[in-house]
Amino acid sequence: MPNNTAAKRIEVNGIVQGVGFRPFVYNLANQYDLKGEVANTAAGVSIHIEGPPEGIQAFETDLAAKCPPLAHVVEISGRTASVEPYAEFRIVKSRGQAQMATLISPDVSICDDCLSELFDPHDRRYLYPFINCTNCGPRYTIIDDIPYDRPGTSMRHFKMCAACQAEYDDPTNRRFHAQPNACAKCGPHVSFYDNHRKSITTADPIKTAADHIRRGRVVAVKGLGGYHLVVDAVNSEAVMRLRSRKLREEKPFAIMSADLKSIRKYARVGTQEEKLLTSIQRPIVLLQKRKPNPISPAVAPGNKYWGVMLPYTPLHYLLLKHGFSALVMTSANLSEEPIAIDNDDAFERLADIADYFLIHNRDIYLRSDDSIVKHTAGQKRTIRRSRGFVPIPVFLNHTVPPILACGAELKNTICLTKGDKAFLSQHIGDLENMITLDFFKLTVAHLQRILEIQPEIIACDMHPDYLSTRFAREQVETRIIEVQHHHAHIVSCMAEHQLEGAVIGLAFDGTGFGPDGTIWGGEVLVAEAKQFERVAHLATVPMPGSSAAIKEPWRMAISYLHATFGDNFRDLDLPLVKQIDQQKIKIIAEMIVKGVNCPQTSSLGRLFDAVAAIAGVRKRVNFEGQAAMELEMLADGRSDSIYDIQWTSQEPIKILPQTIIRGIVQDIQNGLSITEISVKFHQTLIVLFTEICATIRRNRDLNRVVLSGGCFQNALLLSGLVGQLEAHNFEVYAHRQVPANDGGIALGQALVAASIADAS
Ligand code: ZN
Ligand code: ZN
Ligand code: FE
Repeated sequence: MPNNTAAKRIEVNGIVQGVGFRPFVYNLANQYDLKGEVANTAAGVSIHIEGPPEGIQAFETDLAAKCPPLAHVVEISGRTASVEPYAEFRIVKSRGQAQMATLISPDVSICDDCLSELFDPHDRRYLYPFINCTNCGPRYTIIDDIPYDRPGTSMRHFKMCAACQAEYDDPTNRRFHAQPNACAKCGPHVSFYDNHRKSITTADPIKTAADHIRRGRVVAVKGLGGYHLVVDAVNSEAVMRLRSRKLREEKPFAIMSADLKSIRKYARVGTQEEKLLTSIQRPIVLLQKRKPNPISPAVAPGNKYWGVMLPYTPLHYLLLKHGFSALVMTSANLSEEPIAIDNDDAFERLADIADYFLIHNRDIYLRSDDSIVKHTAGQKRTIRRSRGFVPIPVFLNHTVPPILACGAELKNTICLTKGDKAFLSQHIGDLENMITLDFFKLTVAHLQRILEIQPEIIACDMHPDYLSTRFAREQVETRIIEVQHHHAHIVSCMAEHQLEGAVIGLAFDGTGFGPDGTIWGGEVLVAEAKQFERVAHLATVPMPGSSAAIKEPWRMAISYLHATFGDNFRDLDLPLVKQIDQQKIKIIAEMIVKGVNCPQTSSLGRLFDAVAAIAGVRKRVNFEGQAAMELEMLADGRSDSIYDIQWTSQEPIKILPQTIIRGIVQDIQNGLSITEISVKFHQTLIVLFTEICATIRRNRDLNRVVLSGGCFQNALLLSGLVGQLEAHNFEVYAHRQVPANDGGIALGQALVAASIADAS
């Protein structure tokens, strides 16, 4: 044993099992001629390493810098150990308990090595649609039990052939312990069917599917986290057919293209967007449309953006190589139902939507929709956090008890906590029907099982009619903590940034239950995890017809006009007033005056709806927030001019809308364009809320501002407010990894509940 031999014990925590970490360590040790061993432990991976100190140092540097793509290292700690000595470096079999507490990695895109093998005629997996390795392939969606081992996944039905088994057993191989490892001889395969479930014999099911898509057919394609409905994106007739069958009139469809070059023909791809598109999560990225372009306008009507993704499974690559500039790839469901994953379920539910089915026999255990991201205000912003990201936890700066947070109603996700980690589930959907509620319950049970979490507390919204709240209230054995909707929004963003103490929170969205019986949504809170105070809000106005006012923004317009001009609004020289049937206007005005079916709301989303309707964007919407979104899209250019603003001085400050509405009506009468009015309205909100924050800063000595709520999907509002607040020396925090919309709310609920439980 040479004198200069040193030894070290290194512990690595995070997602380091089932991701090729031990072979990586093994190869690294051999590269620097080091001896010792590596083993999985309950906390992660433990390494004993010995050899020359320079070698150990180089090893440690590479360990941190070059770890496998699927690994998510949280912490590396090292300490000096005694030299044993070891004769070689070896991978020690993981102990039974070892895998129990570890994190499961998300489903990520096919890696470059597998991709080149896929198209290599000499490779034994040439054109095999299920090629994968430890660096890529399905994970979260195929697990139904722990430990994460082949018998705990849907790959248990496939026995590896000798060649696959040899790879699986060889620590130096890229497929060492790759649970979904398979080849054409032993693994899953694709097949093609018509919508009567009649098998169609073909030597190449993928090519047959491509042929039908080219002819304008709708093909249901089974993917990684569920089925997609696929049509040729340049074929308007096919896109319209899909729209009418799916009962989805105008909501944008996502599209997929083979490579960046194809995408650049119809969309603007900056450096940041390129990074997002090519990241291993392969999310849908919102990209500005390029004009002219070959894509059917019916793909994303009234929208400045396309939702675009690159292929992420080998099957996608094989489909796209048949020469499409882009394919519509939309979740296979009837409007607002969960995406289909099961073959029987798909044939039943999609028979009237799809003409053909390209299916396979590797089961999906947990559906996972495509994630959606956008680059805004200098950062990646997550709009839907699902495939590729889930179940990576949000790391907290303190430990919390095991909690289940049930989320809100729309864009529902749930959250489970364990120690210092919060696991936000994949997108579940709008909890308005039984089928989505079933999926919600399934996800709760499934995640509790694979994460081994037995909740001691259940957190939910205060809204008594949310199905998620009702579910929580049925769990009579467990302590239930109800959390105010906008408080949860703000704390969700605080959790993501690990903020403690009190902050100024701007919570802007469409709807949230207020403890005073009104509907909140334009709220300025002074909040910390345990409690909040409502310090300012938009003055309330009636919502004529309640939820009908969400679907018909013209009703909100009437409400705001009535609040501004009284009954005289009917005499205004305003296109909106002239376009609507006078009888209808009379009924709505009476409802407002008498307070019949008119809940009061302070929602900013509804103010956006009203302004959109008054400015002539649209009177009715097909999905929530459509009018507001289109108003944003119409804004162009910059303006420093704003509408007059007015608020009451006593806390809670009430922001009075009359001056804004009056200004907009005047601008319309003076012939100002919608484009200019939209810019001016956005700018008004930005100045207004910055001034409100400045007032609160003076009163409360708080300098941190946290932005949350669905309205912050509006890029103009988000980047404008961030810029203006920072210019006034505020510390500003907006969402990045967690959605600003209700998809992020479960995280906030969990942390509020943890804080309340801690205090009691
Ligand atoms: Zn791979
Ligand atoms: Zn095989
Ligand atoms: Fe909300």
